[in-house]
Amino acid sequence: MKNGNIFTLIELLVVIAIIAILAAMLLPALNKARDKTKAISCASNLKQLGLVSSLYQNDWDSFFPPTKMSYPLNADGLIPWSGHFHFTYKTPTKTFDCPGSAETLTSNLRTNQRISYGANYYHLATSVFYGGDSKLPAKANQIKAPSRTINMADSIVVGTTDGNYVIYSTWSSDRVPYGGRHSQIANIAWADGRVSGLKCTSTNFNQEHGWVSSSAQVGTRPNYYDRTNKR
Ligand SMILES: [Zn+2]
Repeated sequence: MKNGNIFTLIELLVVIAIIAILAAMLLPALNKARDKTKAISCASNLKQLGLVSSLYQNDWDSFFPPTKMSYPLNADGLIPWSGHFHFTYKTPTKTFDCPGSAETLTSNLRTNQRISYGANYYHLATSVFYGGDSKLPAKANQIKAPSRTINMADSIVVGTTDGNYVIYSTWSSDRVPYGGRHSQIANIAWADGRVSGLKCTSTNFNQEHGWVSSSAQVGTRPNYYDRTNKR
């Protein structure tokens, strides 16, 4: 009875092995939960950006925010929409930083364009494909289907870990909505203010929601953003 209640070395090793196996089984689930938390936090960011976009529209006769606005203090006299949201509408810096992105956004929002979220350059934030210029955005009542038109979304410059303040190209080229941050889901702030995830891979990036790169595609596909069809 002398050693009756004491673990032998073998028993101890078995217990440790069991704990290690359990930990290995739990780890993927924990990682998944962590990713989910990041995706939810990102969606919250986009919800706030959508709200500020609405505030901007209230202040500016229903125009969506243009990609850049007048700002005499900057060298080029312009400030990105994100800088305007930050300084004029007091949107905190972290709101422009997706928790799923590799980098932490620290630099000055007055000039920094490498934020996690891009605005829809072609169909909301400018008029370049509608015979207008790069500073004249769409008005809310011009959009055919706001609930299916991207306002702002997780974005990336392909080949880097940087996000970008506008989305305007196809998957194979430059600045695109980015699904990789959230298990191939990109969070989207739609033009009606709603936020939801959209599965985005290189093969299913489609033109319907407004990230086409060619003017030829305007009006030729079942697009929802097309403002030429309205009014
Ligand atoms: Zn995100």
